[in-house]
Amino acid sequence: MLKKFFPHAYAPDVYAIDYEYLYEQGYQALIFDIDQTLVQHGEQSTKEVDELFKRIHAIGFKTILLSNNSKERIEEFIENIDTLYVAMADKPQVDGYLKALDMLGTSKEKTVFIGDQIFTDILGANRCGIPSILVRFLRHDYETKIGKKRQVERLVLACYRLSRTYQNRLGNVVKEIN
Ligand SMILES: [Mg+2]
Repeated sequence: MLKKFFPHAYAPDVYAIDYEYLYEQGYQALIFDIDQTLVQHGEQSTKEVDELFKRIHAIGFKTILLSNNSKERIEEFIENIDTLYVAMADKPQVDGYLKALDMLGTSKEKTVFIGDQIFTDILGANRCGIPSILVRFLRHDYETKIGKKRQVERLVLACYRLSRTYQNRLGNVVKEIN
């Protein structure tokens, strides 16, 4: 079955997520992927991302970054962001997710995972029972071709969109659809 790859919600990007709404629903913590979710692969954080984290923290959320990338990469990324992180997370293996929950001090039911890859981010979150939001992966304008893995992701996403049971399981969490 494909359901192990299905996110709980789909958003065009991290800015389209209604974080206030999530908080009102009782969620207390957010786990973010970094590369192609918040910025392009390997890039520094931006003013927009820094501001987003400030806003999210002001709402009351705890945050943690869960990345398969190195400690050095993450340390540079969070220069202006006050957040926890787990490096070399080895997603979709569950250990990194469980460590993130432990560091946050929250339960899986009160935490939401946000990431761009079905076969790592979302699969791992589902294995742990953490609700997830898939965001459209960021890419440069000059990148016209997409890889095989992304093409398979598109197929899974198309099936997800046909599934009323699995779509929109977090309610009105998306503010806008591009
Ligand atoms: Mg990613």
